[in-house]
Amino acid sequence: HFITFEGPEGSGKTTVISKVHEQLAKTYDTMATREPGGIAISESIRKILLAEGNDMDPRTEALLFAAARRQHLIEKVLPALETGRVVLCDRFVDSSIAYQGFARGIGTEEVMNINRFAIEDHMPDLTIYLKLDPAVGLHRIESNKRDHNRLDTEKISFHKDVVLGYNELSENYPNRIKIVDADQSPEKVTRDVMKIINQYLEQ
Ligand code: C5P
Ligand code: MG
Repeated sequence: HFITFEGPEGSGKTTVISKVHEQLAKTYDTMATREPGGIAISESIRKILLAEGNDMDPRTEALLFAAARRQHLIEKVLPALETGRVVLCDRFVDSSIAYQGFARGIGTEEVMNINRFAIEDHMPDLTIYLKLDPAVGLHRIESNKRDHNRLDTEKISFHKDVVLGYNELSENYPNRIKIVDADQSPEKVTRDVMKIINQYLEQ
């Protein structure tokens, strides 16, 4: 079972995944991982993508995200799925659609095309979309300063476009993408997410 987590900056993906991982691991053989990264080659690509002062061409950026995605998929995600593990992944192809396709303006079809090349037919079984007003998300990040070098150069309008991208995706794929209100306590968000995942796993 391949379960991905999506949402804008500060929506709490990382926090919620670690809580969900802890709970699911009581019943299922579970693995949590993240994009871009999760394995050595993809973490190296992540460093290039997130480097400070990085002024990268949007298509180069889209290609690097797709390259990191493929290596991570081949090396880590698929082998885990083959042994029957539940895989929780912080971001996947929907991030590229929302960020590069929508917010960077490349277009969803173009970005989907290079991602089809990268992931072939391996799509998530279930995607949790942690929905949040981008202003709230950016505020959360400001107040607990992390390694978000790029954020200073990205305006609020960029993050609004990211959310518009996610909203459209969730409208287009309602069976796969489930929306959770991320503007709640981490405990409540985790409960809402667990309800959806348990329902999916028990069906
Ligand atoms: O998920 P995480 O916060 O670790 O993402 C790292 C950074 O990469 C974020 O600042 C996010 O905006 C950016 N990103 C992106 N395009 C993607 C995925 C992530 O610009 N497809
Ligand atoms: Mg995170």
